[in-house]
Amino acid sequence: MFEQTLKTFFEFEGTGLHTGRPVTLTVYPQTTGGIRFRRCDILFSEVIPARYDFVINTRMNTMIGTDETNSVSTIEHFMGALYMAGIDHALIEINGPELPLADGSAQPFLDAIEAVGLLDLETKRKTLVVKKEIVFENETARVELHPCDTFKITQSIDFAHEPTIGRQEHTATIDTFATDVAGARTFGNISDHEKLKAMGLAQGATLDNLLVYDHEKVLSPTGLRFENEVVRHKVLDSIGDLFTCGYRLHAHFVTHKGGHFHNNEILKKLFSHPDTFQII
Ligand SMILES: [Zn+2]
Repeated sequence: MFEQTLKTFFEFEGTGLHTGRPVTLTVYPQTTGGIRFRRCDILFSEVIPARYDFVINTRMNTMIGTDETNSVSTIEHFMGALYMAGIDHALIEINGPELPLADGSAQPFLDAIEAVGLLDLETKRKTLVVKKEIVFENETARVELHPCDTFKITQSIDFAHEPTIGRQEHTATIDTFATDVAGARTFGNISDHEKLKAMGLAQGATLDNLLVYDHEKVLSPTGLRFENEVVRHKVLDSIGDLFTCGYRLHAHFVTHKGGHFHNNEILKKLFSHPDTFQII
């Protein structure tokens, strides 16, 4: 299998979830360098590799940067779409601090990539193969990477305090990510939304670009896309976050109540234990 990039560039316009600011992405083909972002609204801005060691904030989203200013937030859904599409190298220029939310899922990004098409490069694709189990755990969650001959995610959540969501579990593999996970939307409780807005977050959130619920029911007019849409969205977040390892993965990622923070911590732990993986 050879590495892939886009056949040509494309543009994508939208509004950031937290900033509420309109932004344009321009996504360029590249032959090397992995996935990288550049803030084209900042003069002389450094390119930011979409790598776990450039993650600078994991609160409500994954933000990468060389510092607080030269940073890009909410990269996870776009990263998930790139992984699903099979893109190894791309440069994403963005004229603002946060990626567009689109419809809250990865589907519009995946559609845009597939509309442009892929180009096979001449370099053989490398895969990060997990050789030994590795675990990261704290008081809120447990995440594990296990050896596996494909890329598979088993994710569970426990929203016992939120009867509309409750407990959910989902397993997806590289073969089902695009059909079962790409369309799952970002979610939020309407009461949290008010609190987040007061904190300057979720400024771009609406009932149409998020799966919004209250204590009793789903409020978004389109209803649920999947019965367990919330945990499927968490799987999407995990795909995007784990792609910051810089490679395709052969591993079974098992996560209970994990989020962006835990996804980043397990990659840091993995790379600090070189005996646990091989790049093949
Ligand atoms: Zn998300």
